Amino acid sequence: MSWNLSPAVADILKQGAAGEGLNRDQALALMALPLHGRECYALMQTADALSRERFGRKGENHFHIGINVAPCPLNCRFCSLTVKAGIFTEAVTFDDAQLVAWARQAEAQGADALNLMTTGNFPLARFLAIGRLLKAAVATPLVANTRDITHAEGEDLLAAGFVGFYHAVRLGEGRDTPLKPEKRIATIQVIKDVGLRWMNCVEPVGPEHRPEEIVDLMLLARQYRATYSGIMRRINFPGSPMTEHGMISELQMAKLTAISRLVMGDIPLAHCTHEPNGAALMAGANLLFPEVGSSPRDGRADTGQGRGQGIDRCRTLHREMGWEPDGASNCFRAIDESRKWKAES
Ligand code: SF4
Repeated sequence: MSWNLSPAVADILKQGAAGEGLNRDQALALMALPLHGRECYALMQTADALSRERFGRKGENHFHIGINVAPCPLNCRFCSLTVKAGIFTEAVTFDDAQLVAWARQAEAQGADALNLMTTGNFPLARFLAIGRLLKAAVATPLVANTRDITHAEGEDLLAAGFVGFYHAVRLGEGRDTPLKPEKRIATIQVIKDVGLRWMNCVEPVGPEHRPEEIVDLMLLARQYRATYSGIMRRINFPGSPMTEHGMISELQMAKLTAISRLVMGDIPLAHCTHEPNGAALMAGANLLFPEVGSSPRDGRADTGQGRGQGIDRCRTLHREMGWEPDGASNCFRAIDESRKWKAES
């Protein structure tokens, strides 16, 4: 590299470029790089090149459908769907016709997955019924995004048609949430045990989080071999108790996305960023989440009418940054192959 990088940074980027992953000290050294410096741009270019080499040109869109709005009693401090936020005072679940319409729209627009999210107090039996409903309505792979589960519940999710499970140990887990990190990690193990694909993101990142706690969650994603990981910044909804901390910029998110990508090495099948933005798509991310329905970042019941970006916008972002949103998802390749096998047998 002829950019006059320091030898230490050049060595770390060389290891990252080879897909070997990074250790904690190496990731922390990258966290300390100034945002607008040449080394930071070299970091982002290295992550970008690794993703383009490993993922081909494929840009992924995993379509988020927030199934219900509710005053959730768990009261995670970064979430708008809480009792304490006082934004939503009644529990409302979007009806079956609306959920099917969203799923069909996403399928028609080339979504690679449906990410079905509920609040933490949503009944699992109802969630399973919605899974069966959408499994019958569309061929798009279903990813669950709900509360912690047991092995038996994981088997139920598989039987209902889910193939993946999004689950994160959130930043500030146990501090800004009432849930213990150990419980969240136990669920990740359940997901792996039952054969669901584990989807992850390091989230919701704010300026107050220490580099060590961010990096430790990047390393957790590598340790448990996430199908994808990446970075989501915290959005401070109107009246959020986190407002005093502010928010990180898209450029800061792109830097973190790049570090996370090099930490993951040759393990992931995609790398995500949220909310959708162009900067992270040139720093190792290739996966976006268009959104409808409820969102913990929004004060509107249907984020499709609020902050949420549509799939057309995400497809445009991909193409603007040199990713191709058409074509088979890397995250579900094995499923496509088994479908093909079933069709031919
Ligand atoms: S993040 Fe989930 S569990 Fe926490 S308050 Fe919001 S809906 Fe409830």
